[in-house]
Amino acid sequence: RPLTSNDLIEEHRICVCVRARPLNKKELTMKDLDVITIPSKDVVMVHEPKQKVDLTRYLENQTFRFDYTFDESSTNEMVYRFTAQPLVETIFERGMATCFAYGQTGSGKTHTMGGDFSGKNQDCSKGIYALSARDVFLMIKKPNYKKLDLQIFATFFEIYSGKVFDLLNRKTKLRVLEDGKQQVQVVGLHEREVKCTEEVLKLIEIGNSCRTSGQTSANAHSSRSHAVFQIILRRRGKMHGKFSLIDLAGNERGADTSSADRQTRLEGAEINKSLLALKVSSSLPRCILCLALNPVWVVEVTPFL
Ligand code: ADP
Ligand code: MG
Repeated sequence: RPLTSNDLIEEHRICVCVRARPLNKKELTMKDLDVITIPSKDVVMVHEPKQKVDLTRYLENQTFRFDYTFDESSTNEMVYRFTAQPLVETIFERGMATCFAYGQTGSGKTHTMGGDFSGKNQDCSKGIYALSARDVFLMIKKPNYKKLDLQIFATFFEIYSGKVFDLLNRKTKLRVLEDGKQQVQVVGLHEREVKCTEEVLKLIEIGNSCRTSGQTSANAHSSRSHAVFQIILRRRGKMHGKFSLIDLAGNERGADTSSADRQTRLEGAEINKSLLALKVSSSLPRCILCLALNPVWVVEVTPFL
């Protein structure tokens, strides 16, 4: 049974899921050992190659349990159903909700959150951003919510090296301030009103091209920045609800950073410091964690600034 927003709220906890991506071409060609199996819907097994003192090799198996686990045959739609989808109702009923993707670079965070940007035919319609928007537009038509006369807005920004840039306004650098109620405000962030899913898809495309433009290596840049896509509900101008969907920077292990470049290492340290706020450790290159955060844990963007 998929979690409902009530499960998350009543239990006052973070729901943590793991998704393993399929082995890619390079890994298949190299005949890489597949160190992950997902034997059931909430278990991940990791098979770590080890060597005894007499040099015989063996696999050390460890088992971990999560709220849900998704193997390589899973689709974005399935991951969405068990992570972000229950939170769509939350923003209509109770205000804030957050869903993060956390993992090493190349583990599938952007594929899951934003959609497929890897090939020529970029398709953001099946990412968690778009699927959430689709359901927000379905939900708003329900009689209970229709009568509230809500308007829907979207924002898309990036946090890079501790600075915030508006992806819907030519990457303008923005200031972040805390107001009297300890709420973090991104000053001047463009909120675009959206009337249908197609309009949201256009904004995701604009934001994504803005995210990667002017970079020598798109992936190098995006793996070092957090992207935050928000769907905001307003009622007579006042905020009614906000859903933050976050594609976090890669949580590279220090040992994986081959670059001897001081700036790169410092950036890595900064990112790891900001990710430490989540107190989760994952060093599996093929897995991402989708953390769905219920509204009681209003973390917002604060820990990453
Ligand atoms: P990250 O954002 O975590 O660095 P990406 O989302 O860019 O990783 O994924 C790395 C590569 O793997 C991309 O080419 C992406 O299309 C592919 N990929 C990731 N997850 C999947 C998946 N579940 N199925 C197929 N391809 C995937
Ligand atoms: Mg990415």
